[in-house]
Amino acid sequence: MEKKYDLLIQKGLVVGGSGARKVDVAIKGEKIVRVEPGLKKEEAERIIDASGKYVLPGVIDVHVHPVYEDDMGGLSLTAAHGGVTTLIHFAYAKPGMKLIDTIKQYQEEGLKKSYLDFGIHGTLFDPASQIEEIPKAFELGVSSFKMFMAYAKLKWMTDDYHLAKAMDVIAQCGGMAMVHAENGLVTDYLEDRSLARGEDQKKVFLRTRPDHLEAEAVFRAISISAVIRCPLYIVHLSTARGVTPIEQAKAEGQTIYVETCPQYLTMTDAKLQKLGPLAKIGPPLRTEKDRLALWSAIQKGIIDTVASDHAPKAKKIDDPFFEAPYGSPQTETMLTVTYDEGVNKGKIKMSRLVKLFSENPAKIFGLYPKKGVLQKGSDADLVIFDPKLTHTIRNETQHSVAPYTLYEGRRCKGKPILVMQRGRILVENGEMSGKPGDGTFLPTKINRVKL
Ligand SMILES: [Zn+2]
Repeated sequence: MEKKYDLLIQKGLVVGGSGARKVDVAIKGEKIVRVEPGLKKEEAERIIDASGKYVLPGVIDVHVHPVYEDDMGGLSLTAAHGGVTTLIHFAYAKPGMKLIDTIKQYQEEGLKKSYLDFGIHGTLFDPASQIEEIPKAFELGVSSFKMFMAYAKLKWMTDDYHLAKAMDVIAQCGGMAMVHAENGLVTDYLEDRSLARGEDQKKVFLRTRPDHLEAEAVFRAISISAVIRCPLYIVHLSTARGVTPIEQAKAEGQTIYVETCPQYLTMTDAKLQKLGPLAKIGPPLRTEKDRLALWSAIQKGIIDTVASDHAPKAKKIDDPFFEAPYGSPQTETMLTVTYDEGVNKGKIKMSRLVKLFSENPAKIFGLYPKKGVLQKGSDADLVIFDPKLTHTIRNETQHSVAPYTLYEGRRCKGKPILVMQRGRILVENGEMSGKPGDGTFLPTKINRVKL
């Protein structure tokens, strides 16, 4: 006779955004059907004993770039090993490219290659010619659009006129703007001046991208989005100074969401001085004061999400620093290092970690309660996390194609040991049993939720 549950996860500590409970999780098909104490094991086909472990909603990594060393297949594979069950990719519409064609290409590639369920953010490199396509993107399930306030020299920067115009269209369609907030023109000037002086670009990397220029762009984006009344998501906040305008705008009730990344929470410019081009990322790794301010902003609820900015590039430690591209592999190590730095060191509780990684991103992008929570009716996307497992991060055990990790040699306590997507075990004890094409496309929806 068919049993009532396909799977029963017993005796684990199930964590949600508002706390942890020792309850069992029963799964039938792709869904969670009960979350209660004392469920009967005779009623389940398979039992997983999670005593002494956390049972967490799968991580939703909303900031990934599948256009570098890891494609949508490889990126989802490496992410899954780290406890991620949902990805939202930046679809790069470079100058000369059509936004809609780009979105369709990413959807096709994802359906073919992705191990994980995924959504898509439009990424406008040339808003002047791409804005008119924004309304059509909503019909394809895309409701968030990123623009760069940085990278003027690269011709990726959106000026304020087009930032406002894009936000206007996005807001009218019910979507959300996302910005990389650094002042691109002033950064370029500082860099040009420094190059003319013949300075060592590694030594001055942080000085040519100072915190003031992030804070200025954050304030400008907030101001423009306030005038246009467009919801705003600030990606990878990295400075103490950037927190201030956000705190003020949030207090005034503006719809703004703020993300930081594990690299800004666990490392400083000292890492760049050691690893050179490998640790060249944008925005740069900052000072210890900035790092601690980001933790404090998390504690106060000013920062809403942590996502990886996974963008592994082909580079080596002795490559010329100035020519090296920005970016690093992050998605696989994200949960482990943030847990180790945040929970083990007493900066945050487990429930806050779940908010940052699962509940808040699901709510912001309209995936909740299908994703982001372990409750009756939700997708059975979960992670069993062993808080006692001590391990050392090594590139050789990572699944990214990138030949390095910035966390090489870092000892961590706590690790995901089982990752499940929609009721199917994807990764157990480091073994992947999912396959490319398992992932489904997730349309996003911006509900302007209060977190
Ligand atoms: Zn990024």
